Amino acid sequence: MSDDRAAPPKVIAIANQKGGVGKTTTAINLATALAAIGQRVVVLDLDPQGNASTGLGVSRAQRRATSYDVIVAEQPMEEALIDTSVPGLALIPSDADLSGAEIELSNAPRRSYRLRHAIDRFRRALSAKGQRCDYVLIDCPPSLNLLTVNAMTASDSVLVPLQCEFFALEGLTQLMRTIELVRGNLNKTLDIQGVVLTMYDKRNNLSAQVAADVRDHFGDKVYDTVIPRNVRVSEAPSFGKPVLLYDLECSGSKAYLGLAKELVRQERRAADALAPA
Ligand code: ADP
Ligand code: MG
Repeated sequence: MSDDRAAPPKVIAIANQKGGVGKTTTAINLATALAAIGQRVVVLDLDPQGNASTGLGVSRAQRRATSYDVIVAEQPMEEALIDTSVPGLALIPSDADLSGAEIELSNAPRRSYRLRHAIDRFRRALSAKGQRCDYVLIDCPPSLNLLTVNAMTASDSVLVPLQCEFFALEGLTQLMRTIELVRGNLNKTLDIQGVVLTMYDKRNNLSAQVAADVRDHFGDKVYDTVIPRNVRVSEAPSFGKPVLLYDLECSGSKAYLGLAKELVRQERRAADALAPA
């Protein structure tokens, strides 16, 4: 992370307590697509499984400091940052140690604020050095546990991936209730960034039906861009690559680029709305 403009990064938690809905895939590929259109991005892997770290090609041997060290040992985020093969995209990796964090922090004061403090320090460090970082994307674990609460407390907003399958909306009440609780008690400005439909199968009527239901429910919070089910997307992690580096021309890469552009437009509109007339 280096150079010119130094507005603080927008911090977005990618969360849904269901496993397998495309959180990690979205973290890796949205981050890569944002970097490809000139944004500077950090992916913070907050899942003990470390799939975002592996999927970005960062081996276990390369992971010196991890998100566990940042949250539990209060090690500065800068010390855990690793450059990836994508220019403009750095990673804070995780490893299995993180699965113990919840218990280790169970009696710690202000345990829900650990990541928030780390990110506040990171923002100050960036600003002191005049370094630029536009987005921090947090890949949350598949649970509404203390790690996810830390992510929501540290974030400006939550991005929710929803898989286009029959039970897509199931569990969302719980997710929304958790967001409300965090907003009420820990982070009153937490926003919903948007809902992104993933693994959409255009040959399957169910996908279209689920997409329509989700749009009824969430209205304009749902991104126009829909991520198709695409085998290239699922193959890429085993090569330690984001899909954009694995096959730039496939439908999955194009969709994640579309999503990145939509997100940047959304941020510009929000900034314009706040700017003095
Ligand atoms: P989560 O992080 O929510 O548990 P993942 O991102 O790991 O979900 O995705 C679950 C599985 O679905 C993975 O095997 C991933 O490769 C696959 N997958 C995700 N998105 C797509 C897609 N658009 N097309 C095909 N497979 C996908
Ligand atoms: Mg995951």
